[in-house]
Amino acid sequence: MRLLLIEDDDRIAGPLTEGLGRYGFTVDHVRTGAAGLAGTGHSPDLVLLDLGLPDMDGLDVCRNLRAGSAVPIIMITARGDEADRIVGLELGADDYLAKPFGVRELVARIRAVTRRTSGALSFPAPVRRAAPEAPGPQLLGPLELNRRTRQVRLSGTDVPLTPREFDLLAYLAEDPGTVHSRQQIMDTVWDPHFFGPTKTLDAHVAALRRKLGDPAWITTARGVGFRLTAPGLDAEAGAAG
Ligand code: CA
Repeated sequence: MRLLLIEDDDRIAGPLTEGLGRYGFTVDHVRTGAAGLAGTGHSPDLVLLDLGLPDMDGLDVCRNLRAGSAVPIIMITARGDEADRIVGLELGADDYLAKPFGVRELVARIRAVTRRTSGALSFPAPVRRAAPEAPGPQLLGPLELNRRTRQVRLSGTDVPLTPREFDLLAYLAEDPGTVHSRQQIMDTVWDPHFFGPTKTLDAHVAALRRKLGDPAWITTARGVGFRLTAPGLDAEAGAAG
């Protein structure tokens, strides 16, 4: 598995490259955002992105990467500011890790993100929760969700989602109208051992609402979790669709 590491600090990049190598990863290391964006031409399987880069803001690198690619992105950041992380996740990063962290922890994150984001994996085949046997796309009002191709269309128009956003939408769509608790969602869409702040979930819900063009698609059951319903349709009609 090939990783692109975008990190200007060699004191971090050196040990990281060596450590990841011991776990069998091939690491391409670049020191600037511009080189990182150029480096995606080599089709990395995953990008490790430092937010504090000399030439560009890492968040801009994230935005640019995501504009052209669905490659999984893990932000690595020394910034303590949670707002940066939330923005990064909204821009399409799949996860983040705050410095300092150990190689083992990073490897666990890489594996978790990779399990979630692709059918073509370098790791042992993931045991995905069985999606409903759906030969065709699921229809929910104007929303068309195709689990086989992982495509989402809204009134016939493609809605580009990050892998994690798709997984979240697909999970909520399995049982429209039903409230899924935050913990259920984190355990299923993220990882049973997810230990980060669940602000990540809020960021992804916000991104989905924005991309679906109407916040009413995902309603908040305050203090409990979230449910998916097609705006204008009640839950029953949605479930029957
Ligand atoms: Ca840096």
